[in-house]
Amino acid sequence: MERSLVPVGRARRAVLAACEPLVPVGTPLADVCGRVLAEEVVAPADIPPFPNSSMDGYAVRAADVAAAPVRLEVVGELMAGDDPAGVVVGPGQAVRIMTGAVMPAGADSVCMVEQTSPDGEGSVVVEHALEAGTNVRLPGDDISAGSVVFGPGTVLRPAHVGVLASVGALTVRAYPVPRVGVLSTGDELVQGAGALPPGKIRDSNRPALLAQLRSDGFSAVDLGWVGDDPGAVAALLASAAGRCDAVVTSGGVSVGDRDVVKAVISSMEGARSQWMQVAVKPAKPFGFCLLPPGGTPLFGLPGNPVSALVSYELFARPALRRMAGRSDLLRPVVRARATADLPRRPDGKLHLVRAVLAVGAQGALEVSPLTGQGSHQLRSLALSNSLVALPDGLGARAGDPVEVWVLGEPSGAAPPG
Ligand code: AMP
Ligand code: MG
Repeated sequence: MERSLVPVGRARRAVLAACEPLVPVGTPLADVCGRVLAEEVVAPADIPPFPNSSMDGYAVRAADVAAAPVRLEVVGELMAGDDPAGVVVGPGQAVRIMTGAVMPAGADSVCMVEQTSPDGEGSVVVEHALEAGTNVRLPGDDISAGSVVFGPGTVLRPAHVGVLASVGALTVRAYPVPRVGVLSTGDELVQGAGALPPGKIRDSNRPALLAQLRSDGFSAVDLGWVGDDPGAVAALLASAAGRCDAVVTSGGVSVGDRDVVKAVISSMEGARSQWMQVAVKPAKPFGFCLLPPGGTPLFGLPGNPVSALVSYELFARPALRRMAGRSDLLRPVVRARATADLPRRPDGKLHLVRAVLAVGAQGALEVSPLTGQGSHQLRSLALSNSLVALPDGLGARAGDPVEVWVLGEPSGAAPPG
């Protein structure tokens, strides 16, 4: 068993403690979706602002239609948006009304048009009795004036944007979206298509990490690729620190001879760099520092493609969510029944097994490990939607409940019936 492995939880706590939420800024409604609200939004007025009809029909007095069917005189018409001034429903009268129109004075309920019959010009027959208040939406029954609409920490989704628009909160204080630079390192990397020269591979980490950041709602900045050249790495990181809120690198953080990111950061003054061998498989090597001058967090992910993305999941993603003002930092964890054996040996590490989580025929969750669990075998990560977290030990057997980290939507079985 390797010594001095750092447990995932301890490594993550150290990283999170160093990554503070960004400073909230006034943000126009068009940009708030996906961001976290940093203030209390109070409704200045009732929503709906006035009593209005929830149906197309006739505004009536419930007392008039108690003995329905009954014929009423139609004395006016109100469309959504009309000013109701001067429109009054007296005894024995009705007003034609459309959904969203203001209730006219005198009326207390709306008979939907489907429960009336036309009765020539100027009158209508209401077929059924109504209780007072039927089909009337009251002022403030969605949001009342002076109430707190949303509090700080609310993750703003499309419906929130609609609510904010309805109360006229067109600019709100929200946490900025972190701008995250992505840099690949390694002399072996080539960019673009074409035949690979001897010993070279294509850079897959940078496109994958850029895509992952964007799909997680962050703003991703492509910092390009650099060979194992300490001077070039140092220059790139210095310029990135000035224009990004955080930087993600891949490669060069292990214990190899050319671990260039590690070398550069370790010699950077004030960077407070930390190098860890994390007690996890994949994604054991990990580096973290605060880039001078402003303390921009740098996540030094390992180079192996699966390790890079898993290390991002373990450390960078939660920290970036914290910077974005979120308090729900980790992926949902569920328990699911393993459909196959998950053998492993004790090695002091948490094993994260790429797997497919599915909703089984009876609605219970089941999880199936994929083949190809090497840290270079990226395709199986692409095919997975979850990671089985196997604690140190001998693994699990088919049928056992196991802990699963949910990375994507579970594949669904048709619900019974
Ligand atoms: P390193 O962490 O730099 O020692 O790299 C570990 C492994 O990951 C090596 O096999 C590298 O060739 C590979 N690797 C490093 N960076 C990338 C990348 N950007 N895309 C694909 N593979 C990479
Ligand atoms: Mg390398």
